[in-house]
Amino acid sequence: MTMQAAPSPVRSPYLTAEHEAFRHSVRTFLQQRIAPHAAEWERGRTMPRSAWRALGAEGLLGLNHPVSAGGSGKDIFHSVVFLEELGRLGFGGVRFAVALHSYMGTSYLAADGSAELRERFLRPAVAGELVVALAITEPQAGSDLARLASTAREEGDDLVVDGEKRFVVNGGFADFFVTAVRTGSPTAGRSAHQDLSLLVVERDRAGVSVRPNDCAAWRASAVADVGLRGVRVPRTHLIGRRNSGFIQIMKNMQLERLAAGITAVGAAEECLEATWRHLKGRAAFESTLSGKQAVRHRMADLLTELEATRQLVHHAAWSYARDPLSITACSMAKLKATELSRTVAEECQRLYGAEGFREDAAVARAVQDARAATVAAGASEVMRDIIAQAGYDERG
Ligand SMILES: Cc1cc2nc3c(=O)[nH]c(=O)nc-3n(C[C@H](O)[C@H](O)[C@H](O)COP(=O)(O)OP(=O)(O)OC[C@H]3O[C@@H](n4cnc5c(N)ncnc54)[C@H](O)[C@@H]3O)c2cc1C
Repeated sequence: MTMQAAPSPVRSPYLTAEHEAFRHSVRTFLQQRIAPHAAEWERGRTMPRSAWRALGAEGLLGLNHPVSAGGSGKDIFHSVVFLEELGRLGFGGVRFAVALHSYMGTSYLAADGSAELRERFLRPAVAGELVVALAITEPQAGSDLARLASTAREEGDDLVVDGEKRFVVNGGFADFFVTAVRTGSPTAGRSAHQDLSLLVVERDRAGVSVRPNDCAAWRASAVADVGLRGVRVPRTHLIGRRNSGFIQIMKNMQLERLAAGITAVGAAEECLEATWRHLKGRAAFESTLSGKQAVRHRMADLLTELEATRQLVHHAAWSYARDPLSITACSMAKLKATELSRTVAEECQRLYGAEGFREDAAVARAVQDARAATVAAGASEVMRDIIAQAGYDERG
């Protein structure tokens, strides 16, 4: 069975017939291979390796990665379509597990990894044979990266890593972590950003401990806390130059934020569609709830907001493809889309009435997942700070 990909009511000028055909095949694949199991994975806080391999075999884990690394090097709008469709699955855990793997974790390796790191980690990750997690946040350092305290000190040809990482998506089942550590000389004094480096640490190295984090959102992504105690890795595990981590994070965060915005558009779209189906079937006051003008107008407003947001997000993707440092555009896309997705989920929960408050209601999960997306990958307040600085301060 193939799933008809209903076109959005407002055509995106960025999407061609090829992108829409791709949407059709992605939606069919996700509905057949992922959707039937997603609820079970959310309950079990995991995503089996067979699912990763299936995504890899379908070419969906390397759309944005170069052909030389096993990816398909497709234009950004193939990723836009894929991420919207991932969002439409309605399962935040699956959505972020996959988005983080392909657009947040492996992208550091694609951008700056050595040939050896690409061959050893990126290529198998694109195939779904290995899964990556991004371990940056620490107990004392979330929004403010200047407070990161994990270290890697040199010992011969090795680096010895010590630190604590928190809220690591895919942490429960990842094979390796892309992590941020301080590599400056402790005696030279630390500048807030200048001695960060990015490093690959395999899960099975001595000194790595992974503990489940009981995060209420994105359950299938097996969010975990990771301890690093005297973990010895070869110096060749550095991604890019030593002490260039802050710039790498700033660059990669734009893709991360764009991806979060795109998936939020898909999630909001699916939430509205599911709610409309519920309203059409809910008889009340000699009609159905979908016939009530107050309800119709609210749903119309939310759909209009969604389509306006989609255009903003698509424009941000277009900007990103031309300049990977499109900081304002990507921040606006992340802010607007994740906040709208939260509003949509909360309003839809109300429109479901009491049924929306069952713990296992899809819309209740959508609320938790959407709220988390306004914090992860840069909280909304941080996005607003960035936008105000670029939009006002820097323009005089
Ligand atoms: C579900 C989930 C998954 C995550 N996955 C990962 C992952 O895979 N890897 C990883 O490294 N991290 C991950 N994180 C962590 C995430 O990146 C941080 O939560 C985020 O950077 C915010 O940091 P914090 O939680 O420490 O909040 P804090 O920095 O303590 O901020 C708390 C709140 O204060 C407000 N705030 C923050 N800064 C400002 C400001 N400048 N002005 C005004 N208000 C402000 C915001 O409302 C913010 O939510 C995840 C988080 C969540 C919720």
